[in-house]
Amino acid sequence: MLQQMLDLYEIQKIDLGIRDVQKRLDEIPKDLRRLESQTGDLKNEVDKTRLERDALLREVKTLEENVTLENQKLKKWEARLAEIRNQREYLALSREIEGGKRQNRESEEKVQELKKRLAELEKKLGDMQTQVSTREGEATSERTKVDTDVNAVKEKLASETQRRDELLPKIPRPLLAKYDSIRAKRLGIGIVPVVGGLCQGCNMRIPPQLFNILQRGQTVEQCPSCQRIIFWDKLLANGGTAAAPAS
Ligand SMILES: [Zn+2]
Repeated sequence: MLQQMLDLYEIQKIDLGIRDVQKRLDEIPKDLRRLESQTGDLKNEVDKTRLERDALLREVKTLEENVTLENQKLKKWEARLAEIRNQREYLALSREIEGGKRQNRESEEKVQELKKRLAELEKKLGDMQTQVSTREGEATSERTKVDTDVNAVKEKLASETQRRDELLPKIPRPLLAKYDSIRAKRLGIGIVPVVGGLCQGCNMRIPPQLFNILQRGQTVEQCPSCQRIIFWDKLLANGGTAAAPAS
């Protein structure tokens, strides 16, 4: 019975190790996922800024075309002005020409403004694209690191699972079933040593009579308080998993 308890305790240690390893497996890619999502956000921002820039470019182009057309028209009008003899007609056309020139000046100012904004957008785009490249570089090296770490952890998981599989046949089925059902209810811990008379699962003192039975190491006992399977820690120290004779 003692050896079975010690083997079961070894399985308990493996199970806790496996639980930690699986938690690590979930956590390893977290930095990578964050990096990837940041890069995605940044790329969206780049796309939005590009659209804004393209709209501005179209606006500038339209304004410049209008100014050109308007200038051609004004030149024709000025030529006609030279031929007009009627005072009233002359004044009317002069006013039209003045108005046209004023509007052109305003359009040209607007174009200058838009070009300033365009330059700002181009700079912002350039900066963001540099950032995207940096992030992508970081993501690539992080991906390599994640692969290496995940592989190492998976190897550990495989070897621990194998060690567990080798120990399993040594434990009687009812004891294993009891261990599994307690473990499911008690934070993954189904078997604990009793150290200095205290259950290491719940820290309650084991009644003296039960403690006497425990010290014989011949029966499967449970903590009256937390129900976990218990064994006397000195048996572990005396026997050890490998050296203890089967009993
Ligand atoms: Zn207990």
